[in-house]
Amino acid sequence: MLDTLTDWCSSWKLSVNPEKTKVVHFRPQSFNLTSFQFKCSSNDIFITDSYKYLGIWLDDHLTFDKTTKELSKSASRALGAVFAKFISSGGMSYKVFTKLYNSMVEPVLMYGSVIWGTKSYTVINTVQNKACKYFLSVGKSTSNISTRGDMGWLSCLSKQRISCIRLLCKLTRIDQNRKIFKVWRWASRRKKGWNYEVNKTVNLFNVNDEVGNVTLNTKYVMKTVTEKINLLDNDEWYNELFNDRGHQNGNKLRTYRQFKQERNTELYVAMLIPRQHKRVMALFRAGSLPLAIETGRYARPPIPVHNRLCVLCTNNCVETEKHFLLNCSLYDDLRWLLFSECSNYIENFAILDDDQKLVEMMNCPEIQAFLSKSIFNFFMRRKLFLV
Ligand SMILES: [Zn+2]
Repeated sequence: MLDTLTDWCSSWKLSVNPEKTKVVHFRPQSFNLTSFQFKCSSNDIFITDSYKYLGIWLDDHLTFDKTTKELSKSASRALGAVFAKFISSGGMSYKVFTKLYNSMVEPVLMYGSVIWGTKSYTVINTVQNKACKYFLSVGKSTSNISTRGDMGWLSCLSKQRISCIRLLCKLTRIDQNRKIFKVWRWASRRKKGWNYEVNKTVNLFNVNDEVGNVTLNTKYVMKTVTEKINLLDNDEWYNELFNDRGHQNGNKLRTYRQFKQERNTELYVAMLIPRQHKRVMALFRAGSLPLAIETGRYARPPIPVHNRLCVLCTNNCVETEKHFLLNCSLYDDLRWLLFSECSNYIENFAILDDDQKLVEMMNCPEIQAFLSKSIFNFFMRRKLFLV
């Protein structure tokens, strides 16, 4: 074929630029790279491992690893620009931040996800997790589960699945003479690849009937699909929250599990409160506020849990989130104010036990601003006394 091209070029007095001409040997992982020397008009054509076409990197094993890595890099840059605005404008509301993320970062991050989106990619998820943590002003080591849970955002995989199913819907309804339809039909015979994977997702959500029924339009079908994906996203998030295999969720999210069961935007996140209050509240909830229970994990060797004692009072107990918020005598005066506020909105607050108090406080909408401010004040005092 290259010889034919050479002949054609010479009869039309054209030349092929050897600098811009390369060969990609598409093959399964188990195949060796070809050693064939390709030539075109006496120039050697060299082999390369990937090629960018319409913004998608096609690598020699068609893995999309390079595509997602490059998208993640570009989206990180876009996120950096959004965050620069965030800082220079003195912070922004959850609504504005989400809008900017959805219009400036996500289109970059999700570019071509209809093609590569059938599985989860760490490099893609990282960008969204970073955005959540930026907004809450918490560090990298804060749990991804709690930050996304409090922001209430859909996972990247769910967003990818939505775009893949939308394309499948469109293909199912397209004019059968179109090339794209024929290619899709031809590729569908294989027991792997895009069509196979997307159909697996369709089965997972049990939306075969809707997707397959061509009398329903894509927009209508996608409404049902999106609702189901939302529900499953919530279940997946919940399972992750309680997944202790190879994770340290059990340590870090021990308190979070008690009061948070659903992935939804928390009031303290959506409210206009000082950024520092938001930050300390997010850390407290995630079990990442540097109390003894948490910092003891980082000591070398780690301090046994029962020895991570509070050094700020004489109670001689482990400094957990609960001790900090509900019992430590260092904050008695501040707590008195907080508890009287709680009593205004939570029924029988005074007679609840500590676990019930914590759950009620975290879930009572009326006190979220006051609670964030109080936890911030507690923490500031703690800092003062530890120096
Ligand atoms: Zn204490």
